[in-house]
Amino acid sequence: MKKKIHIIGAGLAGLSAAVSAKKRNINYELYEASKNAGGRCRSFFDKKIGLEIDNGNHLVFSANNSFFNFCQTVGSLKTLKILPSNLNFFDIKKKEKWEFGFEKKIKEIINNYPIPNTSFFDYLSVLKFIFVTRRSTVFDLVGDSNIYKEFWEPLTLAVMNTSPKFASAQILSNVLKVTFFRGRKHCLIYQPKENWGKTLIEPAISFIQKKRINFNESLKRIHFKDGNISELVFTKRVIKIKSSDRIIFAIPPTNLNKLFPEFKLPSNYNTILNVHFKLSKKDIYLFDKKIIGFINTKSHWMFVKNQYISITISDANKFNSMDSKEIANIIWKEMCEYVKKKINYKSFQIVREKKATYIQSPKNIEMITNFKKKRFPYVFAGDWTQNRLPCTIEASILSGKKAIEDLV
Ligand SMILES: Cc1cc2nc3c(=O)[nH]c(=O)nc-3n(C[C@H](O)[C@H](O)[C@H](O)COP(=O)(O)OP(=O)(O)OC[C@H]3O[C@@H](n4cnc5c(N)ncnc54)[C@H](O)[C@@H]3O)c2cc1C
Repeated sequence: MKKKIHIIGAGLAGLSAAVSAKKRNINYELYEASKNAGGRCRSFFDKKIGLEIDNGNHLVFSANNSFFNFCQTVGSLKTLKILPSNLNFFDIKKKEKWEFGFEKKIKEIINNYPIPNTSFFDYLSVLKFIFVTRRSTVFDLVGDSNIYKEFWEPLTLAVMNTSPKFASAQILSNVLKVTFFRGRKHCLIYQPKENWGKTLIEPAISFIQKKRINFNESLKRIHFKDGNISELVFTKRVIKIKSSDRIIFAIPPTNLNKLFPEFKLPSNYNTILNVHFKLSKKDIYLFDKKIIGFINTKSHWMFVKNQYISITISDANKFNSMDSKEIANIIWKEMCEYVKKKINYKSFQIVREKKATYIQSPKNIEMITNFKKKRFPYVFAGDWTQNRLPCTIEASILSGKKAIEDLV
């Protein structure tokens, strides 16, 4: 009997599994609950601002090899642009701007430390991430550092969507070890020339062939026989599973818990909020850097796109029920402060990803580590399964590839 792999979920993890299966000439089929692929990394045409936008801003470091290999396989490297490793910041309270990264020569950095009013010793706090215990949070390590507010907090929020007070220091340490500790070449920033849909999702769908994805097929129940899955019950039909078939669940913990309530998985999540402002061409040019970190503001990171700017707020549960217009007003004021001018936007859109990532605390990481020690007659993929990495594009792509490797 020819083995068939049933992949549940067509987010990046599911797509990556399908891409790997196709490369190995394995028979596969995908089932996706919604009418589109991409999950938490999707692009769509937004009627309100009349543009195709990403649900949220995604930043990828050049250290992310699985991401790079995926783009190479699906033929989308040409849709990427590479930005320098420098991160630009603006402190609204102190009205100060600075640049942090590897583009400057060491001599320049030593003569002029990037963050105003800091000394050489402040930057040594990075050494605390060399040896980290499983239970420490980022705050435990660098909460008392002079560059906590200006560097450690925005970095942790961007990488882990979790406040440093709760974020696992081990995960941030793993990220620093493959990026900052290895130098400029590994800290360049990948952005899509247009949007992530055109770079990741559409090329992946073309590569695996659209007909292999069954859209609007939500897996509702699973039937077992003799300890093995015998039937997958979707909204519209029931699929019988042969003994040679294999199943990959490429869905987040909350969705998995609906199918397997007995699994002990993280259940607390953080929102990521994105505010997209459409601007005139002339006003877009007022934003002189492509990506800006905001300090002492509600805004965290601002990305300049072709016809709009997009602001990300991580760990944003407190905005879940706030009125959209009110949020837009608060954020827009901060943008005007940056350009030192009162300008108007043409229109705005707010995207609240209420379950953007689970809270990446030491306790939740341990829960996943324990879960992964168990043996199952099926395989899991998804950003959350890579418990040495933060929940990212890299983690989800890597998880899909590993899921196929586990099955062959
Ligand atoms: C706003 C935002 C900003 C982010 N920023 C960054 C960033 O800067 N850098 C970075 O690397 N990462 C970032 N991420 C994280 C990144 O987007 C995710 O890690 C990645 O997209 C997760 O992919 P996944 O396939 O694991 O899960 P998902 O994208 O959640 O895919 C799961 C899929 O399964 C489907 N599904 C669920 N249940 C069922 C079911 N029962 N039956 C069938 N289908 C089902 C869902 O509809 C979904 O399409 C960000 C995420 C968000 C939301």
